[in-house]
Amino acid sequence: MTKPNPLGRASTTATEEIRITAVEPFLLHVPVTGQHIADSMHSLTHWGVPGVVIQTDSGLRGFGYTGTHAHSASDMLITDCISKVYAPLLLGESIHDVLALWKKMYHFPPAQWVGRTGITQLALAAVDIALWDLKAKAAGQPLWRLMGGGKREGIPAYNTDGGWLSLSKAQLVDNCRRSIEERGFQGVKVKVGLPSAHEDIDRVRAVRSAIGPVAGLMVDANGRCDLPSAIALGRHFEELEVAWFEEPMWYDDVEGHRRLAESIRTPIALGEQLYSLDAFTAFIGAGAIHYPQPDATRLGGISEFWQVADLALAYRMPVAPHAGDMMQVHLQMALAHPACVILEYIPWTLECFREPAQVTNGRFTPPELPGAGTELRADALERFGVKLT
Ligand SMILES: [Mg+2]
Repeated sequence: MTKPNPLGRASTTATEEIRITAVEPFLLHVPVTGQHIADSMHSLTHWGVPGVVIQTDSGLRGFGYTGTHAHSASDMLITDCISKVYAPLLLGESIHDVLALWKKMYHFPPAQWVGRTGITQLALAAVDIALWDLKAKAAGQPLWRLMGGGKREGIPAYNTDGGWLSLSKAQLVDNCRRSIEERGFQGVKVKVGLPSAHEDIDRVRAVRSAIGPVAGLMVDANGRCDLPSAIALGRHFEELEVAWFEEPMWYDDVEGHRRLAESIRTPIALGEQLYSLDAFTAFIGAGAIHYPQPDATRLGGISEFWQVADLALAYRMPVAPHAGDMMQVHLQMALAHPACVILEYIPWTLECFREPAQVTNGRFTPPELPGAGTELRADALERFGVKLT
């Protein structure tokens, strides 16, 4: 048995087991910035956080979660999957066997039959993240140190929360200029995919002009374009020195992105809608991507994120994680994994966490508390919790 101290550290021996005694799902709906945001495909007022607390016989608690559009009925399919499908596989198991448990859940035949993407994978992600949170807490280390240590100087941050398609051109330009000049971010992301390509290009050009030639400028179509329109937009982005063109076309279209990569010089980034190592293997193998953007809350958690980051490293590709977790988990991995070069900033859920991700002088700083950065504040459920039915 272990005895956690007030900092969450636990004293254990290398062979001492910590066993799972309960698996308890939860659901938060947290307001987004300015009450509403939209890109070319999605429109949100809240960010959904379906998650899980894993209790152990040591008293340590692990927190994990995924991210959604805060649609209660959909979110509760995920929390149901956690409590009804995965929890029975976990009770009595040791939290030290994270990868073995990941494999047990990933290959659980009834779940594999109906899953491998979507609900089952989002539920697996939440559970896997909670297990890594526990493993790091048991080791008395923040996860980035447990995973091998890393970039103590922090990791470059770019701001996504200011480039929404729902903003007027004036608001967009002002947000992006302030992100660079006043808030110190190293780049900004601008959403595109309006009915008028001319308007898209006009907005991106205005932002480049406002932030100057050096700051990073990323553009994201959220899968909206077809191949001809993506080629046309991509060619305009070349002269504006766009760092990457994100999700230009439909998420699963490997061949379309391969053709696009042949046709434009602007690099292609994608991955937030890919649910497996195999999906990344297909895009990378086809030469259809330059910046993989794995998301641990969409893949099967930290375990599969790490596999994708290793795959990218094998191809010497820079990884720019997508922050469906609102950075708490990806900050840990971006600091530790050698392929990760930059991380996006979206601040919607900062108030929910005990040690929220922090940006100083344009870089995310390394967290200090043991765990995966996922531990909720005591009042998070009270403020943002949704009753599970
Ligand atoms: Mg995106």
